[in-house]
Amino acid sequence: MPAVPRVITEAEWHAEGERRFGPRQRYWAFQCPLCRGVQTGEDFSALGCSPSAASDAVDTACIGGYVEGRGCEATVHGLHPVHRLVVVFPDGHHEPRFEFAPAARRTP
Ligand SMILES: [Zn+2]
Repeated sequence: MPAVPRVITEAEWHAEGERRFGPRQRYWAFQCPLCRGVQTGEDFSALGCSPSAASDAVDTACIGGYVEGRGCEATVHGLHPVHRLVVVFPDGHHEPRFEFAPAARRTP
């Protein structure tokens, strides 16, 4: 049975990302809830994603869906919900997201 997702506001999400990884969002690291792989926007850019595609994908889709051989193609939009985090925006809409990775990978 899937765990109940944690719900936070967009402001809390930004604050948590900055606290863990600093101000540059493309270096924020997220963790796939299925394979536990860690990925950043930079990783997606290195695969040829545009900056906006990279920032859309980094916290919603496992990078395994973009490279061969990882064996994981989890996304928050899949048939079976995998996310454990929901971000609520000021206008009331909410988005499922991958969780932040542990802050071990502090970036420049
Ligand atoms: Zn994965």
